[in-house]
Amino acid sequence: MIDFDKFIRVILYFIGMSLVFIPLERSFLSKPYRILRKEYRTDLFFYLGQNLFWNSLTLITLNLLFSGLESSLLSDLRGKFQLLPFLLQALSVILMGDFLIYWGHRWQHKYDWLWRFHRIHHTAERVDYLAAFREHPLDNIYTRGLESLPAFLLGFGLEEVSMFIAFRGIYALFIHSNVSLRLGVLEIIFGSPHLHHWHHEVDRGGKCNFANLNPMMDIIFGTFYNPHTPPKRYGVNEDHAGNYPSLLLEPFLPNDLPKKFRDFMDKFPG
Ligand SMILES: [Zn+2]
Ligand SMILES: [Zn+2]
Repeated sequence: MIDFDKFIRVILYFIGMSLVFIPLERSFLSKPYRILRKEYRTDLFFYLGQNLFWNSLTLITLNLLFSGLESSLLSDLRGKFQLLPFLLQALSVILMGDFLIYWGHRWQHKYDWLWRFHRIHHTAERVDYLAAFREHPLDNIYTRGLESLPAFLLGFGLEEVSMFIAFRGIYALFIHSNVSLRLGVLEIIFGSPHLHHWHHEVDRGGKCNFANLNPMMDIIFGTFYNPHTPPKRYGVNEDHAGNYPSLLLEPFLPNDLPKKFRDFMDKFPG
């Protein structure tokens, strides 16, 4: 059941986000997309699905998983960690989350059982702020789980962890946005749309720029890629479904689907 207040909040969030990112994209346009570009409807379904259903499922799942990790050793560690100033605590959990998500993201591109879920995010052929929501719900649980694991382990409550997740989520909108805005030397400290768009470039297959908030892990582990020109094409060099219900279903199906079944899936709405 979706309560009416939540529905209104999700619609208002969509309007607010569009009021920020559409003018930003129109002012610094990188690729000449129309606002209602190809794949817009599918990405809108991903937005609604994620915000109306899947984000709550992610938080419930993470709360259940992490509450099973309680131990006396962890309590001692939390006690010591909580003596640090809040800013230092927050920076530490963000950096530890960055480390985990960097390697988690590399594994998503390395192991088929993770790639089949993460691939859904990479099927976007138009990358902009709305395409940030194109994410399979299980991929979402995996990503949010890794990036918030340090915060949970070090004693932050569910509400604070939700704030960390929201902060990273807003930054994800920025790095997906269709803007040519470059951050100059700051690009070695802050992740930029230019860097993340290269992660989505079709021929490189996502083998660079795995970081989200800051590219430090890419620099340390040798996957930082920062050419002068923007990428030309996005997406994956693999057959994939083209509507919301099929993209949710696809990771559970065999790779060599009969053509008849693909044609049938292509008829789904969304
Ligand atoms: Zn992305
Ligand atoms: Zn990726």
